[in-house]
Amino acid sequence: MTSAKSGRGAEPTLKRDVALANLIIERFGLSNAFGHASARIPGTDTFFMPTRRSPGLASASTLLVLDTEGKILSGRGTPNSELWIHARIYAARPDVGGVVHAHPPACVCLTQIGQPHRVVHNQGGAFYAGVPEYERVGLIRTRELGDLLARKLGSGLAVMMRGHGITTALPDVRAATVAACMLEESAGMQLRMLAAAGGDAARLRAYTREEAGSVSDQISPRVVERAWEYYALAAEQRPLGG
Ligand SMILES: [Zn+2]
Repeated sequence: MTSAKSGRGAEPTLKRDVALANLIIERFGLSNAFGHASARIPGTDTFFMPTRRSPGLASASTLLVLDTEGKILSGRGTPNSELWIHARIYAARPDVGGVVHAHPPACVCLTQIGQPHRVVHNQGGAFYAGVPEYERVGLIRTRELGDLLARKLGSGLAVMMRGHGITTALPDVRAATVAACMLEESAGMQLRMLAAAGGDAARLRAYTREEAGSVSDQISPRVVERAWEYYALAAEQRPLGG
């Protein structure tokens, strides 16, 4: 557990990471006006969360601090209405330090054609254990729905949300952000392969469990570090909406 002193010392970097994570999901097309990334304040049941604006407009100086009961502990403004996604996943998963919720189009398309995510290229290997689907449509605007989503996520990295989007939950916000980008990239490829195969999922050469397991390190710290460097720099150079 991080000490209170080192926790406070690390906060500026963590706040910057949360702001960048929000920028990334907007600049890379996982979200537009909606969606949000958060980070647990290490060693606590509290987390940094952006205010109710597009993730593309998030900034380190305007983050709120919330707890796992959805209470605002500091900061000005209103949190995003789906704060319960974050609050209840942090409550259920002490191992999770970062949560990303976005509405990426390829993932939403997969849920609406009844296709689970399949590992169809190396970088999809991070999800070799499968990505569960939360079937209920609509937003997660209550504690109870947050708990239902957290249960569906279980001990996994990500959950698909039918007709809605995705949520990723990993040890830190950088990893959660990279995982969200990878999942959308993978879903996009799966859709293109399905289209090229005339919609016949049986023609996809999806990786076997063993093959997928052999590339399951695609979300290791080394990979995350390299991917985060790219996404963060590229996001800072892209225009809003771009
Ligand atoms: Zn949403």
